[in-house]
Amino acid sequence: MKTLRLILGDQLNRNHSWFRTNNPDITYVMMEVRSETDYVRHHIQKVMAIFMAMRQFAEELRSAGHKVHYLHLMDDENKQNITKNIQTLIEQWGIEKFEYLLPDEYRLDEELRTLADQLAIPTTAVDTEHFFCERPDLKKHFEGRKSYLMESFYRMMRRKTGYLMQHGEPEGGRWNYDTENRSSFPAKAALPESFDFENDGREIFQEIQQCGVQTIGQWNGPFINWPINREQALAQLAYFCSHLLPLFGQYQDAMTVRHRTLFHSKVSFALNIKMLSPREVVEAALDGYRKNTDKISLAQIEGFVRQILGWREYMRGIYWAEMPHYAELNVLDLQEKLPEWYWTGNTSMNCLKHAIRQSLEDAYAHHIQRLMVTGNFALLLGVHPKEVDEWYLGIYADAFEWVQLPNTRGMSQYADGGIVGSKPYVCAANFIGKMSDYCSSCVYNPKLRTEENACPLNALYWDFYLRHYEHFRRHPRVNMAYRTLDKMSSEQKAAIIEKAARTRQSVNQL
Ligand code: FAD
Ligand code: SF4
Repeated sequence: MKTLRLILGDQLNRNHSWFRTNNPDITYVMMEVRSETDYVRHHIQKVMAIFMAMRQFAEELRSAGHKVHYLHLMDDENKQNITKNIQTLIEQWGIEKFEYLLPDEYRLDEELRTLADQLAIPTTAVDTEHFFCERPDLKKHFEGRKSYLMESFYRMMRRKTGYLMQHGEPEGGRWNYDTENRSSFPAKAALPESFDFENDGREIFQEIQQCGVQTIGQWNGPFINWPINREQALAQLAYFCSHLLPLFGQYQDAMTVRHRTLFHSKVSFALNIKMLSPREVVEAALDGYRKNTDKISLAQIEGFVRQILGWREYMRGIYWAEMPHYAELNVLDLQEKLPEWYWTGNTSMNCLKHAIRQSLEDAYAHHIQRLMVTGNFALLLGVHPKEVDEWYLGIYADAFEWVQLPNTRGMSQYADGGIVGSKPYVCAANFIGKMSDYCSSCVYNPKLRTEENACPLNALYWDFYLRHYEHFRRHPRVNMAYRTLDKMSSEQKAAIIEKAARTRQSVNQL
């Protein structure tokens, strides 16, 4: 049977069972389309890196003897839409069967399901063979639950995989070593060397510009600093395991003006486009740990395993259990606009300046910058979660809706009312001051609350709890904040409200 098989740009899994045998009746189709570049404004480096990785993947498949039809962005025959391209090819080539890999994004899942319903030929959707949990497993675990605790999901996954388990118990006797991790980064500590790639991006950059794709962020050329094939992704992973894992957990929440990635792995891009599998990432890290127990403590490896085996799979479970209404949630009814400087980095607030400029320059920021700097400010300001989603979905090279949405709308913006995070992740200057060196070179004073040069976060933080009194007053995890507020005089509270209102009014000048 003449078969057409679709591979999407985030489905570059070389080890998929599809590719184990060659069959001249099967044609793989890959396509660069405007419907994918334009559904949100993406970072230029994200578009470049995905297209470059797709092109290399197509070449690898061809060298392995598979038949591949690749539609470039500039091709005349390209209808710039997945459905239209597939329909055209099926008709032109007399295709008798259509197969696709299950998309991870709801939007594409719906599109391909609709297409399958419309086609007159048999259609099959196949698992991507990437995640630890296939979609039916996720459904079993998540559907019908009132709440989904990440910790119980994670423990179930540890038991299921046997990772860091001994005789049915967690290795070392505990499931979680957070208390031993998460230090700030000492001022004089040695910085890790970055692991960089020199992939020439000039040709693809020109093509994207010529086609008029609207992007955000910068690319200073000539190289693109993202892995674009499996060998590069494996090299990046190996570097992480040998050089960065020993201090990964310890400095997981640290931020510094001296370094952009610290001990983070930066494997999210390769993982999310499926050049690497989560299993091989976890197993490589476990292998590094077992061979170097003198250098890598249990706290470091457990912290890393939890991110991939726990958080990443858990977020996907929430996404599929809660879509499509999840993308509309806004329980705190927030309506503000994102400040203009989220698109330029031109703000005097040092923490935000660093996190945003780095995001615009690198298409990367690490977790705590996303959560406690840019995410925190947007929530304190009261920005509509849709605006926040669009920013995160566009700006990071690793941003795909199934993982971005639960992190942004859920964990970071509390728009889901606590489905993901059991409390709002908000902070004032004291947290930023504790975990970073941003405050010492900032024009604002982190110790002041309502004065002219006070750190804007401080008034916004207390104002957040005052504004959302009804929502959080009886919340067990934010008692402390209300106990402190209860001790403040009405004049102090009025000054906070007034300062926060002025901050909102002049937010673009901060
Ligand atoms: P490391 O710190 O080295 O962690 C290792 C891996 O663990 C990551 O590569 C990632 O695959 C996984 N991981 C860690 N935390 C999470 C998490 N909360 N959810 C899912 N996986 C996790 N991650 C994305 O992959 N895509 C996104 O679009 C995305 N958007 C985010 C938006 C916000 C507001 C927040 C707070 C977090 C977001 N994250 C997202 C999660 C996390 O910040 C990134 O996975 C991480 O920063 C990627 O860098 P890294 O590979 O160096 O991660
Ligand atoms: Fe950020 Fe406030 Fe510290 Fe400045 S003082 S870096 S604005 S937390």
